[in-house]
Amino acid sequence: MNPHKLDEKLLVCGQITPEDIDQAASAGVRLIINNRPDGEEPGQPLSADLKAKADALSIAYRYIPISGGNFDDASVMAFGDALASADGPTLAFCRTGTRATTLWALSQAGSRPTAAILSAANAAGYDLSQLRGRIETASTSSPDGPAADRPAARYDVVIVGGGAGGIATATSILKRDPKLSVAIIEPRTEHYYQPGWTMVGAGVFEPKSTCHSMASVMPKGVTWLREAAQSFQPEQNQVTTANGSVIGYRALVVAPGNMLDWDAIDGLAATLGQNGVTSNYRYDTAPYTWELVRNLREGVALFTQPPMPIKCAGAPQKAMYLSCDNWLERGVLNNIDVAFHNAGGVLFGVKDYVPALMGYVERYGIDLNFESTLIAVDGAAKTATFREKTGEVTRAFDMMHVTPPQIAPRFVADSLLADKAGYVEVDQVTMQHVRYPNIFGLGDGGSTPNAKTAAAARKQAPIVAVNLLAILKGGEPVAGYDGYGSCPLTVEKGKIVLAEFGYGGKLMPSFPKWLIDGTQPARLSWLLKSEALPWIYWNGMLKGHEWLVKPQPIERVRQAA
Ligand SMILES: Cc1cc2nc3c(=O)[nH]c(=O)nc-3n(C[C@H](O)[C@H](O)[C@H](O)COP(=O)(O)OP(=O)(O)OC[C@H]3O[C@@H](n4cnc5c(N)ncnc54)[C@H](O)[C@@H]3O)c2cc1C
Repeated sequence: MNPHKLDEKLLVCGQITPEDIDQAASAGVRLIINNRPDGEEPGQPLSADLKAKADALSIAYRYIPISGGNFDDASVMAFGDALASADGPTLAFCRTGTRATTLWALSQAGSRPTAAILSAANAAGYDLSQLRGRIETASTSSPDGPAADRPAARYDVVIVGGGAGGIATATSILKRDPKLSVAIIEPRTEHYYQPGWTMVGAGVFEPKSTCHSMASVMPKGVTWLREAAQSFQPEQNQVTTANGSVIGYRALVVAPGNMLDWDAIDGLAATLGQNGVTSNYRYDTAPYTWELVRNLREGVALFTQPPMPIKCAGAPQKAMYLSCDNWLERGVLNNIDVAFHNAGGVLFGVKDYVPALMGYVERYGIDLNFESTLIAVDGAAKTATFREKTGEVTRAFDMMHVTPPQIAPRFVADSLLADKAGYVEVDQVTMQHVRYPNIFGLGDGGSTPNAKTAAAARKQAPIVAVNLLAILKGGEPVAGYDGYGSCPLTVEKGKIVLAEFGYGGKLMPSFPKWLIDGTQPARLSWLLKSEALPWIYWNGMLKGHEWLVKPQPIERVRQAA
């Protein structure tokens, strides 16, 4: 067997034997399509025998035989549907692979440019140039409208974004209905536990512990489309990807996170990761924070916070407190001027946590500057410029931790799904889109006015799952979100002020006050952040275990509000 790759999901080859199916299984193939009629030549393995072998290895099998060069529309459609239903890579074969490739090419008509289809076939060793006319006709004569807009694949559920919210939602959906076809559109090959980057910046976690391969977190049964979504066509129930594929859905979940706008600050992108300029907001620069902190003995250390909304609004301060704690422990804090430059007007948005934080501001001697927004960095000169009420102020620094301005992803902001700020406009209780009932949004990319945290996404995912399934069955949303989010403020190494709150700043502690009083620094909260939460993230949240986040009925949530 010598398979050729036609795209990320499909391999084609000539006649296979039952033994080849073992090899296909080891390569992760989940569906085999046989396009060769039985009995074309003596000794040819029977389709029934190949199917029996595939069944034994739990690989799906489809027999779509083509004879006499008759590529009828029903076979083309059957081939396309089979591909769409596969929960992983597909292997299609005939005598030489040409019939399988031809069916693929015809099934892709309209969802990719004709030239791209022919070139992929050519690269795999199949010259289909004589098909150009038929592919082009199919691309323009569909009864569904222009074929260029017809989906290459259609799923019950499409999820845009394989981050914290996207993966958790997929597992919560499949846990409730494993028969649904679910696809996740996600271009990255790594999945990050971003809350761990604060700990990386303080030398507590190894960077690697915060990164797993995307493949390892993709839920079983999900089709991973490894590309970026580029636009939404909600009227047609379609998403178009950056390489032009059109993906159809019955229900859509939009969870692409938010966008770090490094370029909004003049000079920042060019100097980040060097010249003493760092950020815990990136996997590759969080270790540099720790390098700077542990080597600093004297000078000026600046910590910045941009305008809201940002993900984990406490993270700019967390970096500052943990750095100060290290300098205090090493006896150098008195030689370092520490300043916090916050574009906002308060230390933390929920006032109950401010007294404990102010205690640490005083302990570390931090100079607080409110309504002071970073607008430019000169890495070589080691200066930072801030816009303040009285005008622009430029300060020299030895180290600076920057939290970048954050905006809605552009492809969402430019779409029909966006609210005025560019985020996916959903109802803050049901997470359902306000204009398109079969679309849901969650996580940092959603419009709900909660703290943008993984803790919030953890609570939202099961709610989205339950409400989406209700919609697919023709019903209405049943579960409600109360705005819960959590921000474990690492005020010193070993202690945390555990902020947990919902809409309107209502305190929502997960634990009784005698165990953890979230408004006070606590050792147990540190253990939660350093030991329990990463484990819960990887093994609970991403695997569909809904510990402490069972969806509540809408009425109960509204009554409690
Ligand atoms: C330094 C730091 C500290 C934090 N601390 C905490 C904390 O202590 N507690 C807490 O709960 N939270 C914390 N957070 C916040 C938390 O990580 C986020 O709120 C959470 O990851 C949001 O999940 P999400 O799924 O919305 O977005 P993400 O997890 O960011 O995932 C978005 C995914 O969408 C993908 N995507 C983007 N564009 C496209 C596209 N065009 N097509 C397809 N896919 C796309 C991305 O590749 C990504 O995989 C912290 C974050 C940072 C950076």
